[in-house]
Amino acid sequence: MWKLIWALEVPNNVCVFIWKLCNNILPTKANLLRKGVVKDATCMFCEREVETGKHVIWQCPTAQDVWGVGPRKIQKCHSLDIEALDFMELLWSKCNKEEIELCVQIAWGIWSRRNSVLHGGLFTHPVQVVHTAERRLQEYKTAQAKEGGTYIDVEEKREIKWQSPSVGIFKANWDVALNNTSKCMGIGVLVRDHLGKINAALCKTVEAYLEPVIAEAMGALRAIELCREMWIQEVIFEGDCKTVVQAINCKEYQWSRYGQVVEDSKTLLGDIRRWEMRHVNRGANTTAHGLAKFAINGPIDRI
Ligand SMILES: [Zn+2]
Repeated sequence: MWKLIWALEVPNNVCVFIWKLCNNILPTKANLLRKGVVKDATCMFCEREVETGKHVIWQCPTAQDVWGVGPRKIQKCHSLDIEALDFMELLWSKCNKEEIELCVQIAWGIWSRRNSVLHGGLFTHPVQVVHTAERRLQEYKTAQAKEGGTYIDVEEKREIKWQSPSVGIFKANWDVALNNTSKCMGIGVLVRDHLGKINAALCKTVEAYLEPVIAEAMGALRAIELCREMWIQEVIFEGDCKTVVQAINCKEYQWSRYGQVVEDSKTLLGDIRRWEMRHVNRGANTTAHGLAKFAINGPIDRI
């Protein structure tokens, strides 16, 4: 199922949203109540039901209004009392790929409308939600068709400050730090989207004291693993160790001391649809460095 979700040609943030929805980790009121963040989990629209993922996306009358003006095939499924994952499976059995793509884009539209209302924005008309979803999807597909190729087209430039990637693309910065005294190393990875919003942060202590370049290679490997775990399909990796970045970008087999780690990285990268490995100045990598520094005072192993 996850593979099917990530094979959809929709913007990456929509993929991440569906993935979170199916895993029930969206910050819905029901989930926030469980964590003790809010005291009341009632849906702010209907003021009747608990705001769970399935409620806000298709059971709430305000969501049903949107599905009511959406594609006909989906209209038949939307009001059922089923969990997100079952709903996705039902979609797969009834609709073709294009219809499913529009459906998840609309679902994302409903969720972002909910977020915008929550933050004082306007409640957009159901017809507009559907139209915006159709337009976004169209724009995304046109942009994809233009770009083509396996790699993301980005200007060759050395940044001195962290810069956000284009819409739909993630950036994963990694760095490592070594502790001479406690003989351990720290890995820091930060995954951000085009708004610079942090989607994941990893801070891990490794009880081993390695040569710096091997440590850097391990950091890169962990960054790639993390993106794979998140099923991210378009990502720019950034590290400040030129040797490792070049080794990963090199097509020939790496026989160096850190070669095996680099080869493992290359294998994992094979599962990511579009990626780029870039070398950046330390100045563009400070947050990941901070996490790595924090980890050497560990032990810590957190995402
Ligand atoms: Zn409701």
